[in-house]
Amino acid sequence: MHPKFETRAIKSTENTFNNAKPVSTPIYLSSTYERNADGSYADNLVYSRNNNPNRAIVEQSIAQLENGKYGFAFSSGLAAISAVFQSLKSGDHIILPDDIYYAIKKLMEQVFKRWNLSYDLVDMSNLSAIEYVIKPNTAMIWIETPSNPQLKLSDVKAIAEIAHKNNILCAVDNTWLTPVFMNPLDLGADIVVHSTTKYFGGHSDVLGGALVLNNDKVADKIKDIQLLYGAVPSPFDCWLIARGIQTLHLRVSKQAENAFKLAQFLENHPKIEKVNYPGLESHPQHLIAKSQQNNGYGAMLSILIKGNEKKAFNISTKLKYFTSATSLGGVESLVEHRKSVEGPESNTPENLIRISVGIEHIDDLISDWENALSINMS
Ligand SMILES: *Cc1c(COP(=O)(O)O)cnc(C)c1O
Repeated sequence: MHPKFETRAIKSTENTFNNAKPVSTPIYLSSTYERNADGSYADNLVYSRNNNPNRAIVEQSIAQLENGKYGFAFSSGLAAISAVFQSLKSGDHIILPDDIYYAIKKLMEQVFKRWNLSYDLVDMSNLSAIEYVIKPNTAMIWIETPSNPQLKLSDVKAIAEIAHKNNILCAVDNTWLTPVFMNPLDLGADIVVHSTTKYFGGHSDVLGGALVLNNDKVADKIKDIQLLYGAVPSPFDCWLIARGIQTLHLRVSKQAENAFKLAQFLENHPKIEKVNYPGLESHPQHLIAKSQQNNGYGAMLSILIKGNEKKAFNISTKLKYFTSATSLGGVESLVEHRKSVEGPESNTPENLIRISVGIEHIDDLISDWENALSINMS
């Protein structure tokens, strides 16, 4: 019997291009995959929460770029970070930087405290302070370098050594430097964390997170958490991130070059009190940056202007080529007055402006600041 209209509408739209060789990876929107007659699955594809070609490409790519064995992609940086904490057991203790990414502190307070994870906030530039808070149940030391928004650095090698001496895992949030500028696993870290929302995506149009690690046992736990909690990225999100990875090196190299020049200009400007940029010799930990980073110093900086909160906020709105918005890592330059974002309990200086430098021409970026500083101060 010839199939009826409704049936033909389904069968006639089946994918028949299984042997095609597209140069650019297609977006595999399929949530499920046909099983072979012998019960096996082609390319090990069963269901998109388990695995998906676009996600697999992102995962193996980020693992390769970070010199790691296992890569895992998540729907946001925070989902990746949560997976790390979910891999710990109730009763464990964690050492976190005192200036850790703002939302992670909230995550600990509002969620993981109830799971009976405890933590201490420590100044990570003080190695003996880290050793001092280690307890028998300490399971992890978390590093974020450079820190947000004051660009304080942590010595990854030294901290990883302290961790391993005490049988503790060391996780490094490498979002701000990307594998172009630092490879934490090579420095001894056990887990690398990324918000791929930032430089990997690179165009401020996608959220994502990733973990890279070598440890088989921890990788098994993360794999289960990724599958069972289900905070996986969509195929389209993965496609955008894979596309971003193709130009990651080009973009961040240019961004870091621009950031260096802008930092030098601002450092010599009479209306600026201080510039926080690890590439400057005036940065108190410049030598740590030099020893653990490759190819440059990143594209994030912060400045303290001479003046109060209102003045700092006003300057950030006078710029033409720096959009006043949160986040970082995109091709467009952004500025942010951090104190007013973080709220009254934040320790961020009121006159601090955070800058994410993009790929615009450096002459325009510098003259934009020259102009904004002259308008506001006159
Ligand atoms: C943005 C960011 C995060 C959080 O990532 P999301 O993708 O926003 O969830 C974590 N750590 C650092 C350093 C970040 O910049």
